[in-house]
Amino acid sequence: MSEQEQEQSDKQKYEFRKVIEELKGYQGSGTQLVSIYVPEDKLLSDVVAHVTQEHSEASNIKSKDTRTAVQDALTSIKDRLRYYETHPPENGMVLFSGAIDTGGGRTDMVTKVLESPPDPIESFRYHCDSDFLTEPLEEMLADKGLFGLVVLDRREANVGWLKGKRVEPVKSASSLVPGKQRKGGQSAQRFARLRLEAIDNFYQEVAGMANDLFVPERHEMDGVLVGGPSPTKDEFLDGDYLHHELQDMVLGKFDVAYTDESGLYDLVDAAEDVLAEHEMLQDKQVMEEFFKQLHDGDLATYGFDQTRKNLNMGAVEQLLISEDLRKDVVAYTCENGHDEYELINSNATTPEHDCTRCGASVDAEAGEREDAIDHLMELGEQRGTETVFISTDFEKGEQLLTAFGGIAGLLRYSTGV
Ligand SMILES: [Zn+2]
Repeated sequence: MSEQEQEQSDKQKYEFRKVIEELKGYQGSGTQLVSIYVPEDKLLSDVVAHVTQEHSEASNIKSKDTRTAVQDALTSIKDRLRYYETHPPENGMVLFSGAIDTGGGRTDMVTKVLESPPDPIESFRYHCDSDFLTEPLEEMLADKGLFGLVVLDRREANVGWLKGKRVEPVKSASSLVPGKQRKGGQSAQRFARLRLEAIDNFYQEVAGMANDLFVPERHEMDGVLVGGPSPTKDEFLDGDYLHHELQDMVLGKFDVAYTDESGLYDLVDAAEDVLAEHEMLQDKQVMEEFFKQLHDGDLATYGFDQTRKNLNMGAVEQLLISEDLRKDVVAYTCENGHDEYELINSNATTPEHDCTRCGASVDAEAGEREDAIDHLMELGEQRGTETVFISTDFEKGEQLLTAFGGIAGLLRYSTGV
């Protein structure tokens, strides 16, 4: 992915997250909120036919309010589908529509269309419930890691992938290691030696299987997880059976009772904390660098005004935005032609504004309002700035939001702003 594509996809993910967050806040008083997932190869005429069918079946709904609400939602979706040609855009599209509760027995009609999600939509889904179906989209937006998985004991082994949140078993092997019981006539010493040899051979076979699968992808991978009972997993790792680059990528070894395919799932469960930690690694490194620059360097900037100025100069290498930032920017031009920007809470009404340079007051209606993250990312995009969204699930990430207003940057060069 080029830097520009990465940037676009960051921005698109942010747009999606915003819509999903909004949709998740809605409730229907009845089973009346419609969600439709359409894969890119689905003919839209088929979708329209499906919606028409649902519309006619909805006439059987007993509650008049729910019936009307469902039919209105379906009509609204059909209207939206008219804007498209034969097929949905790349990766498909998702349509949401329904009468949401706004309190006091009142409802409000909401219709949203999300085009081209980050991953292809796999299958057509029609869903009508008291809330919108957002989980499949949320899964696509989750941070994507790629981890190699190995589970083994002395009898069998499985290797596979963890891609995002999905476990993918790939290969398995079973061993010819003899049990602990020796046959009559064999010397105890000879039996023990043969057994160790067989174990060693099996570990080599498992390592070969893992190397074949992981080594070609090692630069894309985020780590390797190894699971099994003791002492097998320890012997396997201590014996350096894996390719040395993979060996260096091992994030941990975990106790797992089963070593069949289900063991791969158990391994991911057991590694939950390590995976969560890893997900925040980049965020943590960036924030460490920010604090280092803040105290001992001159490449840190923070707060809306300062960061915005630096962005405009093209001086920002990385724009750091708190994932929990919910602000809008209002752009004003006063009667003397001064352009000014004011940062306000997303849920606040647009305030009046006094020009900080000449004191002229500007009417609230004269301000142009925009989401603050959109505004800043847009500025950065034109100047090759990378945007990093920082989680608030660790101390320095929380500080970005509470102490620095959720907006900061690492500079390419010192600007003195
Ligand atoms: Zn002015």
